[in-house]
Amino acid sequence: IKRTGRNGVRRFDAALDAELERTVLLTREFQFALAREQLTLVFQPIYHLETGEMGKVEALLRWTHPEFGMVSPAVFIPIAESSGQIMPVGRWVLERACVQARCWREDYGWAGTVTVNVSSVQFAQPGFVDEVKAALLLSGLPAHKLELELTEGAVMQDPALVQAALRGLRRLGVEITIDDFGTGYSSLAYLRDLPIGCVKIDRSFIEDIASPRRAPQYAVALITAIVGIARTLDLQVVAEGVETAGQLEAVRSFGCDFGQGYYFARPLDAASLTELLDRGQPE
Ligand code: C2E
Ligand code: CA
Ligand code: CA
Ligand code: CA
Repeated sequence: IKRTGRNGVRRFDAALDAELERTVLLTREFQFALAREQLTLVFQPIYHLETGEMGKVEALLRWTHPEFGMVSPAVFIPIAESSGQIMPVGRWVLERACVQARCWREDYGWAGTVTVNVSSVQFAQPGFVDEVKAALLLSGLPAHKLELELTEGAVMQDPALVQAALRGLRRLGVEITIDDFGTGYSSLAYLRDLPIGCVKIDRSFIEDIASPRRAPQYAVALITAIVGIARTLDLQVVAEGVETAGQLEAVRSFGCDFGQGYYFARPLDAASLTELLDRGQPE
């Protein structure tokens, strides 16, 4: 060990301790988040690129802590997963999203689909299909207007369990999307073998299209390949994280069906999205 090593190790330990402490604190606080009404949903429009219609809306979870302010889902979702809180919270998200979508459908004649992110931990629990069924019954939302976003990791778990859950969901009439597509290391065979209706190309690839630094050829080749496979298997393709007119132009020319991103709209609270639907209504 070098002489500076001890200092280095100590500084490293201190940083690690601080991070651990914060995780412990957030884990404790997140336990109360649902009961204390600190959780809300925001909704990001997803547009059909040909018709311009808001064909889908993605429900995204937000945690506003009275002291820490907004905590990113990238931080609290893993915490919720390891503490088990993802179960009640995931159920709440599902119910809220379905109730909200049913309201937009009834009151504003919106014909679109609401998409809900499902953690692999939540998906792997035995009662998951029944939870989805309950949310549909409670809300009165038609099953085909609900789409669940699963990551490649979630569908690469125990194959028998995954097959059973996906078939159960399909029997209900619920659609399945593979989220963050292209970022995992999984085989593509599952696209053919499992009842999947849609793939969502990860934002990182959309970002690379117009980036002079990172190889755009790779992103272009990958997106072209994904669209090609999707066409063959009759899957929809959503491009996520469209931020510029150039990126929109590109994903349109590659043949993606839907676009989502700041170029169209940021995630909006329910009232703002309602306004957007209201304005879109013919008089
Ligand atoms: P995701 O499912 O990939 O969601 C897309 C993320 O990209 C969202 O971040 C969204 O706000 C952001 N985004 C959308 N368009 C753009 C864009 O044009 N540019 C950029 N830079 N970002 C864009 P958010 O809301 O912070 O969520 C982060 C992740 O947290 C989500 O990634 C998802 O994995 C997870 N998450 C969010 N809500 C839930 C939930 O209810 N349940 C579960 N299990 N996970 C959730
Ligand atoms: Ca998602
Ligand atoms: Ca995504
Ligand atoms: Ca993503």
